[in-house]
Amino acid sequence: MRSRWSDDEAAGFVSRHGPGHGEALALRTYTSRLLGAEPELVLHGGGNTSVKGEVEDLFGERREAIFVKASGHDLADIAPEGHVAVDLAALRRLRELPDLPDVAMVRELRARLHDPDSPTPSIETPVHAFVPARYVDHTHADAILALTNQRGGEARVREALGEEVAVLPYVHAGFRLALEVARALDERPDATAMVWLRHGLLTWGESARESYERTIELVTRAEAYLAGHARVRAAAATTPPEEARRHLVRVAPVLRGLLAEETGDPDRPRRPGVLRAITTPEALAFVDAPGARERAVSPPLTADHLIRTKALPAWAEGLDFDDDGRLREQLAAVLDAYAADYRGYLERNAARLPEGVEPFDARPRVVMIPGVGVVCAGDDARAAGIARDITAHTLAAKAKIAALGASYQGLDEAQLFAMEYRVQQVAKLGRSSPPALAGRIALVTGAAGAIGSAICEGLLAAGAHVAATDLPGPRLDALVGEQRTRHGERARGVALDVTEPASVAAGLAEAVAAWGGLDLVVINAGLAHVASLEELDLGRYAEIERVNTHGTLHLLREAAPLLRRQGIGGDVVLVSTKNVFAPGARFGAYSATKAAAHQLARIASLELAEHDVRVNMVSPDAVFAHGERRSGLWAEVGPDRMRARGLDEQGLEAYYRDRNLLKARVEARHVANAVLFFATRQTPTTGATLPVDGGLPDSTPR
Ligand code: ZN
Repeated sequence: MRSRWSDDEAAGFVSRHGPGHGEALALRTYTSRLLGAEPELVLHGGGNTSVKGEVEDLFGERREAIFVKASGHDLADIAPEGHVAVDLAALRRLRELPDLPDVAMVRELRARLHDPDSPTPSIETPVHAFVPARYVDHTHADAILALTNQRGGEARVREALGEEVAVLPYVHAGFRLALEVARALDERPDATAMVWLRHGLLTWGESARESYERTIELVTRAEAYLAGHARVRAAAATTPPEEARRHLVRVAPVLRGLLAEETGDPDRPRRPGVLRAITTPEALAFVDAPGARERAVSPPLTADHLIRTKALPAWAEGLDFDDDGRLREQLAAVLDAYAADYRGYLERNAARLPEGVEPFDARPRVVMIPGVGVVCAGDDARAAGIARDITAHTLAAKAKIAALGASYQGLDEAQLFAMEYRVQQVAKLGRSSPPALAGRIALVTGAAGAIGSAICEGLLAAGAHVAATDLPGPRLDALVGEQRTRHGERARGVALDVTEPASVAAGLAEAVAAWGGLDLVVINAGLAHVASLEELDLGRYAEIERVNTHGTLHLLREAAPLLRRQGIGGDVVLVSTKNVFAPGARFGAYSATKAAAHQLARIASLELAEHDVRVNMVSPDAVFAHGERRSGLWAEVGPDRMRARGLDEQGLEAYYRDRNLLKARVEARHVANAVLFFATRQTPTTGATLPVDGGLPDSTPR
């Protein structure tokens, strides 16, 4: 591993943060970021760092303090405020105590904060306080864990890293670990670093650079050892990646449906999550190899991973990827067996369950599938992504251990259980009530237009994952760029041409490969054309029909089997129009093709109801724009209507406003709200039309 230290960058941090926070904390921030930039050292909030210094109290007196990474901060993007000041003298005194349970320790840490409004410092704060050196760095480096997580791991560590490194057996993170660290340092004052078996690495130094470079040096030594001692060649993957992806698209919706949590709410009986897969050649080589099951179904590298991955993954082999019925049976059997094992584990460890803590569900978070790779589950894309990243690193480390010809050894069951149900860990995962569409996956066509972009925005704000589809180009790219800035991984752009069945199928498959399935399809893409029937060009009519009518049909036809395979219902919303009920002169192509689409959606509501798939329509009157995004439809229709009525653009908007009962300006966000009404299943309704038009008696559906 290469050192990322740069004198220039370090000086930049000092000049930026030094004046407000002091040079020591500025450099602490810098090298913390350097550690965080290396996923092979820490992943997603893992690891912690500290620096000792001083704070000034109200009387101008200076006191010793330790600045420790606070929970909820990630080393990768930590700011100086991410390290909070704790009274160092008070922490050092804790060494006099024989033990301090987690809850009491967290209370003590909070009581000793310099600023009581600070977030809670890391559970490993006492470790940092008990190490005398000024800077302390703690990581869960993959290469170190590949040495420690095997039979005879301690000897490997000594052989690879040398005697200057102290080695500690596994001790739960928390106060007892801190006592063990202090004791080990008393015994080995000459030690330059410490390895904690099945946990990670601790380095220290009098400067930020010294402590950081020590970490890099030891990890480099571990990597060289692993590479130099590899003697078993890994088998190559037997499944080509494109075949794995095809299998994934078959398996994921079925698995997602089976993993969806039961809610007891008849309107929304299942709460699905999101699946993210690893189909890399490395993952395929791992799961396809003979004897992979034994290697794969083993505990995680380090205890703080298992809150994301559960103690063990599920293993699903011999799947019939081409027979949906059989595939469902096979996967259901895998999940049933997993749940039975998990309940057994709960029973065996019932006495260790902390008071007032409910057992977690018995569903796996990671499913290993030969022929596919690995599928990871979470409440949303971010959570599933964390499980996926952790799993990818776990597989890599396990593969390195296998290459040494050694056997993997993780934590034992009691250690796993104690960590899984640690009070703090439970609190960390505590679900604040999720937004209405959390974990749901939506696909919107015509997303780059005025109404489409507003619908995407409404769905994203309600917590959904949104595949925003449109013809490829700068409009779609710009929209998705904005969405990703605001909503991160829950937004995704998918190029899709609704007139091509193959493109529609590929677009749906892309959403499935990305997130595991689909819950909501919003059919919104549409074209308009102004001409009397006599003047109407038939080629133009066919073009409009291909988008408005055939496009709707293709979406319905491709989505239906997917929703059925997933088996947890779903919703389809068609953006219809008031013209279906009250057409306008010179607007035949649009009105007729939309009327056909509307009718197709009604038919779909009849055909899909038995699978709990609801199909509803919203019928807006004229929407001109959404923010900067002009309606394409109105760009086509507006000038003609303005000419016909002798109005300018503002006059035309006023005309449409004044013709409805409420004198309301119909906006794109109103259409989005109507879609949300159906998507969140506020009423038991299917095959219905919700007008969004300010009240137009002539076009009220009846
Ligand atoms: Zn740790």
